[in-house]
Amino acid sequence: MTEAGLKIAIAGGGIGGLAAGLALSATGQQIELFEKASAFSEIGAGVQLGPNVTRILKSWGLLDALRTVATEPDRLIVRSAVTGSVLGELRLGQAMQVRYGAPYVTLHRAALHAMLLRAVEQTAATLQLDTCVKSFQQSAQTVCLQTNHGAQDADVLVGADGLWSSTRAQLFGADMPRRTGHLAYRALIRQADLPERLRSRNVTAWLGSNMHGVHYPLKHPVDGDEWLNIVVFIHGNAPGDLQNWDHSANAVELNSALQGSCYALHNLLDAVPDWRLWVMHDRPPVQGPREMAISRVALLGDAAHPMRPYLAQGAGMAIEDAAALATALNGVTAQNAPAALQQYAANRWQRNARVQARALRNGQIFHAHGLMRWGRDVAMRLVGEQLLDMPWLYGPRQLS
Ligand SMILES: Cc1cc2nc3c(=O)[nH]c(=O)nc-3n(C[C@H](O)[C@H](O)[C@H](O)COP(=O)(O)OP(=O)(O)OC[C@H]3O[C@@H](n4cnc5c(N)ncnc54)[C@H](O)[C@@H]3O)c2cc1C
Repeated sequence: MTEAGLKIAIAGGGIGGLAAGLALSATGQQIELFEKASAFSEIGAGVQLGPNVTRILKSWGLLDALRTVATEPDRLIVRSAVTGSVLGELRLGQAMQVRYGAPYVTLHRAALHAMLLRAVEQTAATLQLDTCVKSFQQSAQTVCLQTNHGAQDADVLVGADGLWSSTRAQLFGADMPRRTGHLAYRALIRQADLPERLRSRNVTAWLGSNMHGVHYPLKHPVDGDEWLNIVVFIHGNAPGDLQNWDHSANAVELNSALQGSCYALHNLLDAVPDWRLWVMHDRPPVQGPREMAISRVALLGDAAHPMRPYLAQGAGMAIEDAAALATALNGVTAQNAPAALQQYAANRWQRNARVQARALRNGQIFHAHGLMRWGRDVAMRLVGEQLLDMPWLYGPRQLS
């Protein structure tokens, strides 16, 4: 390590890459972040962040900034998509703050991304757009990366390059993420455009058979108004050509998946003028530390552990990874960087694997039918709050 810290290259400027840039800069590391797109942006819509994540953002001095762009929903309400009845509830809002010392928030992912970007821009980190990390070579002393603008040396390379990570492909070969057979239909609708009875201050999950829906409030990043973020997950195959996808044709497909659902859910979904489709991919849970770091290269976020969004923790785990990586590399010499990355991987892989596995299981429970659905509904009615609260996930934990 030089006086100025390790030289760390980060491939990818999504939520994970920016979080890593911020956390590592704060410990005095020299950061060069490469983003292949020509502008920093986040597509998609809403994101939920549990107190395990907002606690980290708070420790980075971002809680006030977060509160200006985020919403703190009152409750998580689980309802049957078939009957519309309430199956279980978890108090969020002040109750989460009291229980876990940090809030449960919902926000537009563009607002989260912009908040992280503003914070990174205030550090000494260098951010390079239009720069694709194409390949790298490791030696005992250094990692040399090749971008579309030439070669570059670093002490450490962090692959935060998402689901289709080329950093990962170079470490482990081209084992592509798997299609889950699930599709996500996403929409945003201004609350003021909805009839009063359909507006909501809560996170609501509707559990059906082979489908579930989730909606929650968020502030729109452009107009600051209250919008409702709606996602419906169904079983189905992706259309071949997503670019030229016919929205109305696929809304028909969505409607057929919703057959047998209650009026309350139909009323809300009928109010959506336009859907966007996501084809869901994941990987099996991480099986060991080797899947998160080899020598001078570490993986983080979706590059390491893409998961089904049924625990709402993909971006959260990327932010936890970033905090753990900064802790592991703090004060480390260039020579010791590989050992520090092993420490990072050892600290993170089981947590990520557990969250991936739980997200997978939630999908099975949320989409259950027959006896399993009956059992789920009974359990939710009897001990809903205990099932929905997850101290192992939301509670404080050691990052080093
Ligand atoms: C429907 C849905 C709902 C979700 N809801 C939630 C939720 O409520 N809560 C939650 O925590 N998570 C949620 N997630 C998951 C979350 O969106 C992801 O886990 C998270 O965005 C991953 O961030 P990342 O930075 O690892 O990857 P990405 O966001 O994919 O960022 C990767 C970046 O790397 C860049 N890049 C790629 N290759 C290169 C290269 N070779 N060189 C340079 N740059 C490169 C890309 O352009 C991109 O900017 C949800 C996901 C989905 C699909």
